[in-house]
Amino acid sequence: MSFNFRQKLAAAVALFALSLTTLAQTKAFDPNFMDRTIEACDNFYRYAVGGWLKNNPIPPAYSSWGVDQIVEKNNYDILKDVLETAAKNTKAAKGTDTQLIGDFYASCMDEAAIDKAGAKPLEPYFKRIDGIKDADSLRNVIAFLQKQGYSPVFAFYADSDQKNSAMNIANIRQGGLSLPNRDFYTKDDEKSKEIREKFVAHMTKMFTLLGDTAEQAKAHADTVMKIEMRFALASKTPIELRDPVENYHKMTLAEADAVTPNFKWATFGKELNVPAYPELNIGQPDFLREFNKMTTDVSPADWKTYLRWRVLTRSATRLAKPFEDENFNFYSTTLRGTQEQQPRWRRCLRSADANLGEALGQEYVKRAFTPEAKRKMNDLVENLFAAYRERIEKLDWMGEATRKEALYKLSTFLRKIGYPDKLRGYKGLLISRDSYFDNVANAVWFDTNRDWQDIGKSVDKTRWGMTPPTINAYYNPSFNEIVFPAGILQPPFFNVAADDALNYGNAGGIIGHEVTHGFDDEGSQYDAVGNLKMWWTAEDRARFEKKADCIVEQFDNYEVLPGLKMQGKLTLGENIADLGGLVIAYNAFKKSMEGKPRPANIDGFTPEQRFFIGYALGWMVNQRPESIRTQVLGDPHAIPEWRVIGPLSNMPEFAEAFACKMGDKMVNPKPCKVW
Ligand SMILES: [Zn+2]
Repeated sequence: MSFNFRQKLAAAVALFALSLTTLAQTKAFDPNFMDRTIEACDNFYRYAVGGWLKNNPIPPAYSSWGVDQIVEKNNYDILKDVLETAAKNTKAAKGTDTQLIGDFYASCMDEAAIDKAGAKPLEPYFKRIDGIKDADSLRNVIAFLQKQGYSPVFAFYADSDQKNSAMNIANIRQGGLSLPNRDFYTKDDEKSKEIREKFVAHMTKMFTLLGDTAEQAKAHADTVMKIEMRFALASKTPIELRDPVENYHKMTLAEADAVTPNFKWATFGKELNVPAYPELNIGQPDFLREFNKMTTDVSPADWKTYLRWRVLTRSATRLAKPFEDENFNFYSTTLRGTQEQQPRWRRCLRSADANLGEALGQEYVKRAFTPEAKRKMNDLVENLFAAYRERIEKLDWMGEATRKEALYKLSTFLRKIGYPDKLRGYKGLLISRDSYFDNVANAVWFDTNRDWQDIGKSVDKTRWGMTPPTINAYYNPSFNEIVFPAGILQPPFFNVAADDALNYGNAGGIIGHEVTHGFDDEGSQYDAVGNLKMWWTAEDRARFEKKADCIVEQFDNYEVLPGLKMQGKLTLGENIADLGGLVIAYNAFKKSMEGKPRPANIDGFTPEQRFFIGYALGWMVNQRPESIRTQVLGDPHAIPEWRVIGPLSNMPEFAEAFACKMGDKMVNPKPCKVW
């Protein structure tokens, strides 16, 4: 489980990014980004970056356009060169990083071969699916498809036991849906109905491309919708999934078999070829109970249709152009508003990062990450922790027993910066120039199987959950660690050339955010060694929850599109992290100025003002309404504009820096404060 700093939005091409790139590298903050027609105390987000937002509309191949894409442009220029250089080398020794990424990229760029293959690569899968005749053969096929990464019905994976974080166990998580989450199936508003209609039309087109007649295709699409609807109704909502205690149900094999009498977990494990597991965590037993019913009351013919769909939709991006285009049409245009696809090389680059990230990341960090950057980042992290410690020591609402535990947890955080020190390698993985489809299948199987072999073994805390070029960061509660890949340690997030105020507001805010995840409504339920265990006194927990409720209410009231409000409960963890992280970063920044001559104003702004400008700069992004809607319905991160307005309007430090008064929109009359 990782709590991402920012959502990875489906992003894309940088046709006119050149000026932005230059700017990101040479000037830390350009006052032209601002919109001076707006008052800082009225809407600080628009005031600080509104000029940039107006002048930088979203290009057709993007669902959003902002700082992430500026950084991405730089990262992709480097990665493209790495991949093209490797692909030109046809003599690289088998199994070396150069051979793996070079052949993988070349096979992905070979559109003629991919188009010629049509949907042929799916035939072996369809043949297996055709053998379904009862609950036993259904289980056997589900196991086969799990190995290929299709996760039919549910996800099966190895992860640390939430209550014994030193050991890996087998985990089951509800799944099987093609729309982003349960709410897309159950909501009754016009827009939701329209999306469901478009989804059925999309499936119909995809089945037609496979060779169905129009009539057959529609019937198949309806069958899939019926099955997914049953999954959806038995699923937990995104908000319910945020409760770690309610989603932890470790049981013995006998207990698991009692949940699904038609589906034997020991046999399933043998079919997956994973180490025998005496117990497993079934995250959502009610979902599995419904699935158990469906093993017998859904006909084999309907199961075949559903599983064919699952394989088809999950393979679409590596099939011939008509499949890829139709897949884009629904998932990127309907759900995210993106108008056109990114160029082939960018899609292949993403795929190489997703499938061979460690090999690709090696070369990336050599070119894009310096020991100096690592040292500076480490110093910044160090200062943030010092400020955090002071803050917890002084918290007026926390009793001594809980405070002691909180300080202990803070002192044990693991930190990872840049890239993994220990590599896992790709020994035994076959990649060639013959078939892009097979390359992805091989890479997925290699990775899936390798993770499954961890079941029953002790946890290796050197592992990373993101690749080095990733523009993101995370907190992992089971490891109690914060992780910052090299990809995000780039301007403007982290700029070795910028003034401290800007870096503390931006990179400092990111670090503070990730540390605070260890103390948000979810993370705070894990102890110092990463076990799900309550270390709070009942009184302190009640006070914490009351403070959290303030933030729920604050965000529940934000209307992000006409008639569409943010979900305060869904975004609570991220919003606690934003506010807490920013308060800590501000304290660390003030501390860093102690005993030194006061820094000069820059462009007419005080250091304190530049701190808040730096924070807003990290959220400078235009986003399409379709993408906003999809995010609000299922993503735990609030929309960028509100990630700035929300926390700042709770901070007296902000009001003081910009002389905002009670009654101004940027001053919350009932300010929230947790950390
Ligand atoms: Zn986060």
